[in-house]
Amino acid sequence: MAHDWDPELHRQMESGVLPAMLDADGDLGIPLPAYLAGWPEDGFADFLSAGFDGTDEGFLTCEGCPERLALGRALRDRAGALLLFHAGEPGEVANSRQPELNAAAWRFLTVHFQHPLRVVAYPAGERAPADGCVTVGGGGSGGMSLTAYVAGFTG
Ligand SMILES: [Zn+2]
Repeated sequence: MAHDWDPELHRQMESGVLPAMLDADGDLGIPLPAYLAGWPEDGFADFLSAGFDGTDEGFLTCEGCPERLALGRALRDRAGALLLFHAGEPGEVANSRQPELNAAAWRFLTVHFQHPLRVVAYPAGERAPADGCVTVGGGGSGGMSLTAYVAGFTG
């Protein structure tokens, strides 16, 4: 399956060096619609059907606190590069339109302001070393539900 995800921007994202600050006021700003144009976030089920790998589980982790947010399955292109995360069943809407997950992501960023954050992916079942870290969402045992995590959060 072909998709129109910009390979140059994807390469820059993988390198961790973006060409500009997003939505900034200066000359280097990229408007958010341009940044998101062509991103195949709704394509998880189609990519899986086409044989793309979506088995690893992704997390946003704080390296300073024992807490991580489950992002769902990590979908990789045929070269192994990450395309997107997808929580829930393959037919579920994109992560950005799952209200509790979206709110949880914003709460996580707020709670861990100025903490060292990493986005990681592990093979299913190998995600959690016995480190006492609480996993928010993802449906695993011993974690915290998204509903509980975002209760009372107004951000
Ligand atoms: Zn933290």
